[in-house]
Amino acid sequence: MTGNYTLMMVKPDAVRNGNAEAIFQEIKKHGFEIVAQKKLQLSRAEAEAFYVVHKERPFYGELVDFMISGPIFAAVLKKENAVPEWRTLMGKTDPAEADEGTIRKMFATSKGENAVHGSDSNDNALNEIFFFFSSREIVAQSGIVQLNDIIGRQPE
Ligand code: ATP
Ligand code: MG
Repeated sequence: MTGNYTLMMVKPDAVRNGNAEAIFQEIKKHGFEIVAQKKLQLSRAEAEAFYVVHKERPFYGELVDFMISGPIFAAVLKKENAVPEWRTLMGKTDPAEADEGTIRKMFATSKGENAVHGSDSNDNALNEIFFFFSSREIVAQSGIVQLNDIIGRQPE
């Protein structure tokens, strides 16, 4: 894929604390375009599937319980080098280690309840985008985002 798209979530802690709007403002201020966005609550099966890569980690159960504890926002962000750009703006997993000016420094309360999620590679971004959205729900100011722009393949 071209690397211009990533998937972010506003996690249940930040939605509960009323920080979702401020987080989206920060995202836009840093030059990302929000090309898809929805509010939803994950089922247990969905949260387990989304975080299956962490299945063997000691915090997996806690993570799944937290992620289904309330509504979240999922969004697709567009910017050149979206994955690393968004991870930089998010800040480190643990807010105690996150740099000033990052979302987690501003809005996270702990390593577990850390306000936001971001894809960690272009391949995972692709999977995570289509976990939440169908291609006709992904629309830029300039018009519909072509599937090939997201998956990074040339039309045959
Ligand atoms: P995310 O994938 O949510 O964007 P990340 O990539 O910074 O965060 P990961 O290592 O992928 O961090 O961990 C996924 C999530 O699991 C973290 O965001 C956090 O909510 C939770 N988590 C990670 N490590 C711990 C831990 N030691 N204790 C409790 N929760 C943890
Ligand atoms: Mg991660």
